[in-house]
Amino acid sequence: MWRSGWRVGDALLGLSGRGASLGAWRCGSTTACERALRYRVGEKIHSFTVSQVTSVPELSLTAVKLNHDGTGAQHLHLAREDRNNLFSVQFRTTPRDSSGTPHILEHTVLCGSRRYPCRDPFFKMLNRSLSTFMNAFTASDYTLYPFSTQNPKDFQNLLSVYLDAAFFPCLRELDFWQEGWRLEHEDPNDPQTPLVFKGVVFNEMKGAFADNERIFSQHVQNHLLPDHTYSVVSGGDPLSIPDLTWEQLRQFHATYYHPSNARFFTYGSFPLEQHLKQIHEEALSKFQRVEPHTAVPAQKPWAEPREFQIACAPDPLAQGSSGQTTVSVSFLLPDITDTFEAFTLNLLSSLLISGPNSPFYKALIESGLGTDFSPDIGYNGCTREAYFSVGLQGIAEKDVQTVRDIVDRTLDDVIENGFEDDRIEALLHKIEIQMKHQSVSFGLALTSYVASCWNHDGDPVELLQLGSQVARFRTCLEENPKFLQEKVKQYFKNNQHKLTLSMKPDDMYSEKQMQLEAEKLKQKVNSLSLEDKQQIYKKGLELQAQQSQPQDASCLPALKVSDIEPRIPFTEVEVALAAGDTPIQYCAQPTNGVVYFRAFSSLNTLPEELRPYVPLFCNVLTKLGCGGLDYRELAQQVELKTGGLAAAPHVLPDDAHLDTYEQGVLFSSFCLDRNLPDMMRLWSDIFNDPCLEEEGHFRVLVKMAAQELSNGVPDAGHLYAAIRAGRTLAPAGDLQETFGGMDQVALMKRVAEETEAGPALRKLQRIQAHVLSCDSLRCSVNATPQQMSRAQDAVESFLQSLSRSKKERKPACPHVVEKSAPEASGGRSGVTRRLVTDPTFRPCQMKTHFLLPFPVNYVAECVRTAPYAAPDHASLKILARLMTAKFLHAEIREKGGAYGGGARLSYGGIFTLYSYRDPRSTETLQSFLRAVDWARSGWFTQQDIDEAKLSVFSAVDAPVAPSDKGLDRFLYGLSDEVKQAHREQLFAVRHEDLVDVSNRYLGAGRSTHGVALLGPDNASIARDPSWIIR
Ligand SMILES: [Zn+2]
Repeated sequence: MWRSGWRVGDALLGLSGRGASLGAWRCGSTTACERALRYRVGEKIHSFTVSQVTSVPELSLTAVKLNHDGTGAQHLHLAREDRNNLFSVQFRTTPRDSSGTPHILEHTVLCGSRRYPCRDPFFKMLNRSLSTFMNAFTASDYTLYPFSTQNPKDFQNLLSVYLDAAFFPCLRELDFWQEGWRLEHEDPNDPQTPLVFKGVVFNEMKGAFADNERIFSQHVQNHLLPDHTYSVVSGGDPLSIPDLTWEQLRQFHATYYHPSNARFFTYGSFPLEQHLKQIHEEALSKFQRVEPHTAVPAQKPWAEPREFQIACAPDPLAQGSSGQTTVSVSFLLPDITDTFEAFTLNLLSSLLISGPNSPFYKALIESGLGTDFSPDIGYNGCTREAYFSVGLQGIAEKDVQTVRDIVDRTLDDVIENGFEDDRIEALLHKIEIQMKHQSVSFGLALTSYVASCWNHDGDPVELLQLGSQVARFRTCLEENPKFLQEKVKQYFKNNQHKLTLSMKPDDMYSEKQMQLEAEKLKQKVNSLSLEDKQQIYKKGLELQAQQSQPQDASCLPALKVSDIEPRIPFTEVEVALAAGDTPIQYCAQPTNGVVYFRAFSSLNTLPEELRPYVPLFCNVLTKLGCGGLDYRELAQQVELKTGGLAAAPHVLPDDAHLDTYEQGVLFSSFCLDRNLPDMMRLWSDIFNDPCLEEEGHFRVLVKMAAQELSNGVPDAGHLYAAIRAGRTLAPAGDLQETFGGMDQVALMKRVAEETEAGPALRKLQRIQAHVLSCDSLRCSVNATPQQMSRAQDAVESFLQSLSRSKKERKPACPHVVEKSAPEASGGRSGVTRRLVTDPTFRPCQMKTHFLLPFPVNYVAECVRTAPYAAPDHASLKILARLMTAKFLHAEIREKGGAYGGGARLSYGGIFTLYSYRDPRSTETLQSFLRAVDWARSGWFTQQDIDEAKLSVFSAVDAPVAPSDKGLDRFLYGLSDEVKQAHREQLFAVRHEDLVDVSNRYLGAGRSTHGVALLGPDNASIARDPSWIIR
């Protein structure tokens, strides 16, 4: 995987905690935090020396810094009462060309190592472990290998595999060809077919650069920091990747993947000693200290601003090509290792650009010149020197200069007038609530938060001390009211290191890219001797043979099915009726002083023709103003009092019947305990008096939403293909396409281009009457036990404020079935869900090709099978995992060269086979067929089945945050008893069950299939009348 850079700003503002379990853990044993506080500076632990021990109470953790005596490797341990322990190792990798060396190396080290020489141990471990996360990332200047797990034995196993992969990889030539790039005959068996470029990273990057936003952000970084490593593409430019040799790759590994250039990170409740011992014994003890010489030099500041223009492909979903230009202005900021300056500039950047009250939103977004901000705006701290960008996309070419003028004027205006105190308070409140809100992947959030700064020898512990940063920030503001204005003057107004980048569509862009690739290929092929060509043919066959060989993974460590917890812990909830008959589910949890409120409102009475507008309704509902508040005042109140208010459409399939589902809108929100009455008052105003008349701001929101949707298609192509392929298989499928498929993208683009906002707004006003009442509402609250009675009062008064329809509305669909939710504690249920069903529904086959000018394809095939509560569901779920790991991965990724592919089963019983960033199209459909034949043949072992079970359970048992406990019961009416029964079915799945379900559901002609493809022109599909082309 490759990321052009992690946004430190996002990580900070997404920062969340899990300190809540402290209470439960403290009694009896000593906590990990307290144990860690006992280390002394200078103390030696397994060849490491402790250099610093710091308590960070705001994140409920203790930080311990150490150095490895022999190699100088750095280690940071964050001890915290969190069972979801994380390890990562990070290397500073600073390439000087765009051949993608660090990225291809990141892939190749995971292909086998000295102790674990089997092919692809990384992917194999996914099936031999209960990991909660395993991945690898290539950033602009470092490569990071993280994993997390809740099981101590698993932690040791994974650590062993990760250490061996990073420090002692095989880096075989065949691995380089498979993962990097190679020349190979189109059909490797037939030397008459033309030679083409193949390789996983080669295709991954072709796919990545199908995304215009990605192209733009990449160029901003390359042009703004032109002196060293930031001027190249660390992930690899598809046209430069074929310049890389195997020898260069091995050299890069020897230079950069050395302990003296490594930073180790451990997080969680497991003891540090064991980690250090293992890291020393299995890796570091085998190395001598070296001087890595990998530091990135400071960028030389410019004497005057610069500007560049680039081209991109036109937006395939837009009506015309006018208004598709992007422009941004970027400023180079100081070194990110100055943590307080970085913190200040990060906050300053939020004040400048976030929300409708920020100066750049008012000046740029509301100018109506464009559709949305330019990509990657705001503070970017993933390079040694940070930078700030701001601009617009979707503008007319002639407006480039206007946008630049607006940027300058806005900065002048801020220097003159500063920010309102309330906005600064709202931002500090946001930091407070996000430190308390607990996510389940806190370790991962922390490692990515400190990675960039630490990579340049900044102090990661200083970065974590957010409490003291906030205090220092407040002092600066008190001492100097113009503190922020002066920063704007210094870093923006008076900064000559300023880049203006514009990008406009070129109708020939894709053709030109293809032509450049063809030229590169020709140049490579022309330089081949006859002997080279014979070699290529031979090696192609060799690779194919290796990929097809049965694989022995017995050298790898593994957990056993018996290591899986046989029972799930039950979650206590209580249900009470409020304001007459509205059920509220209460779930007491250690939420760390935060209250989570949700409400679900049915859409059963909504007329059919309004359904497509529900996502738009949800998108704008909490952003247009309500009660006496206009949209700016509402945004201010939301930021000041809550962690956010959101609404989203949901299609909830039934657990027992394929043709039955519930439809509705889920409202969700959270706030600090003290702000609950304020938050509920905001909901009350939104429900009773939403402002759905405000045309001006509505148009701004629609344009932004449409732009965001269409920009997201290349990244989520496999999901769009899957939604489409499932559309005609069950009644819920059609609604899923309406709410979240390509139909929705097209509709939003249309609405955004309409000149009149009135007609769309009137539709939303009609939806309001069906959704915003308590006629068919249920609510849930997750909070600490101490807060429950206050929460009850606040929710009760919210419900009492809601209107009730005078006469009962008729459901728009005639077939409604009522279903009582399982009993909660105290023997009361009280929740009745009204599901719709369609007894006349007949599934039908459909094949759709969405013609999109991408350089790669996204393929999906869906099959109608069995829903959650059906006995076959468990077998199909294990089967999906088995087919992914033991067949599709090799077929679609290794042989086919796609970035990814696999099978999965949805809760509602739709079985999906898919590929992602795939150079092939209809051939992949053939692979799906072969996968089914393979499954039916029963050509897999008990070991394979056990591995699939481990992999399924690592998803089933993924940690759940206190905010989300009880959510399955609330939404789906799913009780812990039913989940436990399903768990037992999963354990019980046998070889013959898997063959049986393959035969009964997946074989040709057995169940109804649907197929969809997103991708470029395709001659064989165009000839085939069974396809619908859109
Ligand atoms: Zn990758």
